[in-house]
Amino acid sequence: MSRFLRAQSISDRDIEAVVEVLQSDWLTTGPKVGEFELAFADFVGAKEAVAVSNGTAALHAAMFALDIQSGDEVLVPAVTFAATANCVVYQGGTPVFVDVDAETLLINPELLEEKITSKTKAIIAVDYAGQPCDYDSLQIIAGKHDLSLVADACHALGGKYKNRAVGTLAKLSTFSLHPVKNMTTGEGGVITTSDSDLAEKMRRFRNHGINSDHRQREALGTWYYEMIDLGYNYRLTDFQCALGMSQLLRLPEWIARRQEIATKYTSAFAETPHVEPLGVSSDVSHAYHLFVVHLRLEELETNRDEIFNTMRSNGLPVNVHYIPVHLHPFYRTRFGTGTGLCPVAEAACEDNLSMPIHPNLDDEDVEEAIEFILELLEGKPCLLIS
Ligand SMILES: *Cc1c(COP(=O)(O)O)cnc(C)c1O
Repeated sequence: MSRFLRAQSISDRDIEAVVEVLQSDWLTTGPKVGEFELAFADFVGAKEAVAVSNGTAALHAAMFALDIQSGDEVLVPAVTFAATANCVVYQGGTPVFVDVDAETLLINPELLEEKITSKTKAIIAVDYAGQPCDYDSLQIIAGKHDLSLVADACHALGGKYKNRAVGTLAKLSTFSLHPVKNMTTGEGGVITTSDSDLAEKMRRFRNHGINSDHRQREALGTWYYEMIDLGYNYRLTDFQCALGMSQLLRLPEWIARRQEIATKYTSAFAETPHVEPLGVSSDVSHAYHLFVVHLRLEELETNRDEIFNTMRSNGLPVNVHYIPVHLHPFYRTRFGTGTGLCPVAEAACEDNLSMPIHPNLDDEDVEEAIEFILELLEGKPCLLIS
C-alpha cells in the first residue's frame, strides 16, 4: 500500500550526495546553494534561480521582489493551494480571486480584465495539476495594464508551453520541492527569473534582508554587514541543495512516467461517460503533478464523497484539489469573500477527484486504480485490495 502513498523517490546516489555534505564544513549557506541554483536555472533555461526554504517562501519572496504592499491588489485563481493567495496577504496586499476555465481549471483570461482596477499590481497564474497556463494571453493582458506576471509553477516543474520551459514564461516563476511535488529536497522552493536585480533582492530577502551572507564575509575576512530590507530566514540548507542537484538529474524520466500514467488514465476513461479528465491544450507538455477528473454522476446512485471514501478505505490515495481559496474561513472573515464569487471553481470542488499519479506507480498499480473506480461506477461490489 505504501507504494501508492510514497510519491518521492530517493536513490542511493541521492543519499550519498546528502551524506557527503553532512560530512563537509558547510551544512547551510555553503557552496551547494549556488551550485544547485545554477543547475536549476540551467534545467529550465532561466537566467537566475534563487533557492529558498519552501514553495510558500518562494511566493512570498516574489511578492516582496515586486514590492507588493498595503493597498495593492493581486489577481489569483480561485482554484489553487491557499499559499498562492496568502503570499499577497503577507505583504499587506489584497488577493482578488478570479474564476477558472471549467475544462482546465486554469485561471480564465477572459475573466481577468473585469477584475483589474487602478490598485492591481500583479497576476499570479497557477499551472494547476501541472498544465502551463495560456501565457501568451496572460502576457498580453499584463502588458496592456502594466501588471507583473508571476507563475506559481509549483505543480509544473518539467512542463512546457509552446515548447518553452515552465520557469521562463513569467517575470518570476515559483516552485515547491515538497516530497509530493515533481522532485524534492524535503522542504524547499525556488524562484526563477531573467531579472538579476530581482534575483539579488530575493537572495537578500531569504537572509534577513542582509547584504552579504556568512560565507561571503568569511571569504572577505570581515564581520561587518548591513540589513537593507526587512527579510526573513528562508534559507535552504546545503545538504538539501545536494539532494536537489541529484534529483534534478532524474526529473526528465519522472515527468515521462507521469505522462505515461496520464495516457493510461485518459484512454481508460474515454470508455465511460462518468469520468471526464480535465482538458489539456495542444500547446503544452503537461507535467502531471496531478491527474484530475470531473465525476459525472448525475444518473448514478452515488456521489463524489462516497467514491472518495470507498477508494481511500481500499488503499487508493485519491484526493480533492482544492477547496476554492475564497471559501476558507480566513478569507471569508478577513476579505468578505464567499459562495457565488467564483461559481466554476465552486462547482469543480463538488465533482473533482485526483487519481493517484507519481513515478513509483507501476502499470499494475494504475490498472488497479482504473478497474476499481470503473467497477465502483458500474455499481459492482468492490473487493478490498490486500
Ligand atoms: C505546494 C504548493 C505551494 C506551496 O509549496 P510549499 O513548498 O508546500 O510551501 C504553493 N502553491 C501551489 C500551487 C502548491 O501546489
